[in-house]
Amino acid sequence: AKRAGRDAYCFFETSMNVNVHRQLQLVQDLRQAIARNELVLHYQPKFKAPAGPIIGVEALLRWQHPQLGLLMPGEFIDLAEKTSLIVPLGAWVLNEACRQMAQWQAMGAATCAVAVNLSAVQFSHPGLVDTVRQALEQSRLEPRLLTLEITESTAMRDAAASVEILQQLRDMGLHVSIDDFGTGYSSLLYLKRLPANELKIDRAFVRDLAQDTEDAAIVSAIIALGQTLNLRIVAEGVETREQQDFLTNLGCDSLQGYLLGKPKPGSILPSLMLHDDRD
Ligand code: C2E
Ligand code: CA
Ligand code: CA
Ligand code: CA
Repeated sequence: AKRAGRDAYCFFETSMNVNVHRQLQLVQDLRQAIARNELVLHYQPKFKAPAGPIIGVEALLRWQHPQLGLLMPGEFIDLAEKTSLIVPLGAWVLNEACRQMAQWQAMGAATCAVAVNLSAVQFSHPGLVDTVRQALEQSRLEPRLLTLEITESTAMRDAAASVEILQQLRDMGLHVSIDDFGTGYSSLLYLKRLPANELKIDRAFVRDLAQDTEDAAIVSAIIALGQTLNLRIVAEGVETREQQDFLTNLGCDSLQGYLLGKPKPGSILPSLMLHDDRD
C-alpha cells in the first residue's frame, strides 16, 4: 500500500511539473505575442430586441498561437491577469478595437459602438484612464462609440473607488457596461451611484429562462431594476427563438448570442454593418 501511495505521489508530481512547465511556456509565449502579431479580435454583434438593427459589437480576444492554434480567452486570460501581462495585452485590445471601429466608421458603417472587456487587474491599474484616452486620441474614434465592459464583481470589489474611475471615464464621453450582471454581489446603493449606461444579464440566467420560473423572475427583476436606473439592458447568450421572444416580452432592450450572431473576425464585419439599413 505504501508503495502504491508513493507511485501515485510520483505520478501526481510529474504531471504537476508538466502542467507548471506548460504554463511557464505559455507565459513566455504570451510575452512575445503582441510583438509577433499573434493577437486577434473577433467581434460579436449586439442587436436591438428582437432582431435588429445592430447597435454595437463586442470585441473578444483570441490568440493565434504558433504551435497550439487559435486559443480562446478562457485558456490564457487568467494567466495574463496573474502575471499582469493583461495590462499591455489590454492596451493592445483597446487600441485595436478603437482603430478598427474608426476605420469602419470611415467606410460608412451604421453608427455602432465597440465594446471592450476590462479585467479586474486592468481596471485597478493606475494607467487605465490614460491608456483609454490614448486609444481614443490615436484612433480619432468618437468617444461615445467606445463602451467599456466591467463585470459586476470587479465593479463591486471596491465600489467607492469604482465610482470614481468610472466617472473619469464617463467624463471622457465613453459608455460603461456592467457585465455578467446577477453573478456578483451588488450593493444596490452603489449600483445606483455607478455611472453606468448598460447592464448585461449573465448567460447563466438566460439559459433556462423559458423553463425555470426562478430564472425568469430574476431576469424580470433585473430588467425592472435597469429600467428604474435608466440603464440599457442587454441579455447575453441568447441561443433560441424561445429565449429571444421571452426576453423581448419582458422588456429587454438588446440581445446578444449565437442565435443572432456569433463572434467573427473583423474582416467579415463590414458587410454586416454596412448593409444594415433597417434603422
Ligand atoms: P464575456 O465578456 O461574458 O463574453 C461572452 C462570452 O460568451 C464570449 O466567450 C462569447 O463568445 C460567448 N458567447 C456569446 N454568445 C454566446 C451564446 O449564445 N452561447 C454561448 N454558450 N456562449 C456565447 P469568449 O470569447 O470565449 O470570451 C470569454 C470571456 O473572456 C469573456 O466573457 C470575457 O470575460 C473574457 N474576454 C474576452 N476578450 C477579452 C479581452 O479582450 N480582455 C479581457 N480582459 N477579457 C476578455
Ligand atoms: Ca463582456
Ligand atoms: Ca458573460
Ligand atoms: Ca456569463
